[in-house]
Amino acid sequence: MPVQQHLCILGSTGSIGVSTLDVVARHPDRFSVHALSAHSRIEALADQAARHDARVVIVPDDAARTRFLTAWPAGRPLPEIRQGAQALADTAAAPEVTAVMAAIVGAAGLPGALAAAQAGKRVLLANKEALVAAGNLFMRAVRESGAELLPIDSEHNAIFQCLPRTADRSRAPTSPDEGVRRLLLTASGGPFRRTALDQLDSVTPDQACAHPNWRMGRKISVDSATMLNKGLEVIEAHWLFAMPLERIQVVVHPQSVVHSMVEYLDGSILAQLGQPDMRTPIAFGLGYPERIDSGVGLLELARLGRLDFETPDLKRFPCLRLSFDALGQGQGACIALNAANEVAVEGFLRGRIRYTQIPPIIEHCLDDSVAHGMRTPSSLAEILDLDAHTRRVAAGMCQPH
Ligand code: NAD
Ligand code: MG
Repeated sequence: MPVQQHLCILGSTGSIGVSTLDVVARHPDRFSVHALSAHSRIEALADQAARHDARVVIVPDDAARTRFLTAWPAGRPLPEIRQGAQALADTAAAPEVTAVMAAIVGAAGLPGALAAAQAGKRVLLANKEALVAAGNLFMRAVRESGAELLPIDSEHNAIFQCLPRTADRSRAPTSPDEGVRRLLLTASGGPFRRTALDQLDSVTPDQACAHPNWRMGRKISVDSATMLNKGLEVIEAHWLFAMPLERIQVVVHPQSVVHSMVEYLDGSILAQLGQPDMRTPIAFGLGYPERIDSGVGLLELARLGRLDFETPDLKRFPCLRLSFDALGQGQGACIALNAANEVAVEGFLRGRIRYTQIPPIIEHCLDDSVAHGMRTPSSLAEILDLDAHTRRVAAGMCQPH
């Protein structure tokens, strides 16, 4: 009999949350759903909670609680409804929970993910912004509590799968003697890989969100178009695998079939391939160390025909360069990078700024963080302070012109 996991899914109504519940539903003998959370789409949350028999749901406020109650099917026993940001962290750390899927978008997901790590849970980490903002603190919490950290981001999941199995990979970062030379992160190049540079000024949010290979939430879709997403992933890989920046390379691979690679000292490169479907890394994390069915179809290599690779163009993707800069500058700059980007992307999605205003806003906030001599924050409160400061600076720049 497989071990039963009791799940808390933070951000269950998002793209990753929905894919997680899809995999979970295929294995009723392995998983039970303890808690689900959503910030919007409260009716969808009620539907999920009813279908998966959730014991607890977490909503943001009174209005959401009322919406949940209105949407709840009559006659069914009501789950416990918890409210507010603190409830996310408390539930993630609750004794009834064995595994936490951290799938809230943005730095808003940090407190819940960190609480799961501190409580020693199996942490399925999709929320890359948590590691970007708090890499040091987060990895220390994992080490100290004995939490089992499994990367869900497809690139990091691929690297995890390609690293040697000799060490306890779920706990230990890459040690220098494992023979690893470099991590090769693949990037699709997004919807604007071939768009004329002078047309980028006028692209719309819907165009930016029309990713050629993946169906994802709108924020990460814009991040994929600017390649800031890949920048966040370089920082994420740095922390997850204890790998210095100069040993992480980004390779553009438009088909999104090779999800990432590990290069060894002897010249071998190990890759993980699969359909671009997040249910594969999610199933890997849920079932680890066993392989379980994810519902993902076959990858027909002969039908695919070819796999292409190219070097990223830093002129087309200035956000990638800014991410390297931030990682070189330290934790304070990484917090600023992420917060500025969240505000700029939101401004773009709401039609307040143009697509091409995103990189200069981030650059300004990075300069601001350097000018303020932001030191490495040592607590969650300090991180959230820096994050809030950058959001104010970035919001001031989100004016149409
Ligand atoms: P999404 O926008 O589809 O869903 C986000 C979820 O977070 C929703 O349930 C939403 O209600 C909740 N949420 C949003 N703001 C919140 C807040 N302030 N407080 C609490 N909850 C909030 O996003 P997604 O595409 O599922 O991505 C989720 C995370 O996973 C992101 O960090 C993203 O970078 C990462 N990720 C996503 C994919 C993908 O394929 N979608 C791949 C790799 C990594
Ligand atoms: Mg990714």
